[in-house]
Amino acid sequence: MAQNRTFTMIKPDAFSAGNTGAILKMIEEAGFRIVAAKVTKLTAERAGQFYEVHKERPFYNDLCEYMSSGAIMALILEKDNAVADFRTLIGATNPAEAAEGTVRKLFAKSIEANAIHGSDSDENAQLEGSFFFSKDEEF
Ligand code: UDP
Repeated sequence: MAQNRTFTMIKPDAFSAGNTGAILKMIEEAGFRIVAAKVTKLTAERAGQFYEVHKERPFYNDLCEYMSSGAIMALILEKDNAVADFRTLIGATNPAEAAEGTVRKLFAKSIEANAIHGSDSDENAQLEGSFFFSKDEEF
């Protein structure tokens, strides 16, 4: 499988709890190469744009508030089969349903504050990466 890229965010709960280093270690040990990274903070409006696909869902407003409540780390990662393999590494959206050893099983606090984002398709990985990074910030 050719090398491809996915996008991730270490969300405010995991970042503020000091779990960033442990999560990055899991990511690198799983064979992902970090090709872009930054610590930043979303406004509620920017969080709303990022999660626009969910704007009709009942959890949307709370999600935007939570995602703008503190700093995050945004990264672009490279690996063969990156999108699918990363979704496996992070586990199910709801940590109660996440497999043992996954990032969400280990670090998520709730279905909302679930530690980490992972793109769900190559197309969204591209769109989400460019939401945070310009081409000259990606190596
Ligand atoms: N989310 C939530 N309540 C729900 C479902 C999702 O607060 O019932 C949040 C959660 O932070 C999740 C994000 O919305 O990661 C995006 O949801 P999605 O269904 O795309 O899950 P993901 O792809 O992140 O696993």
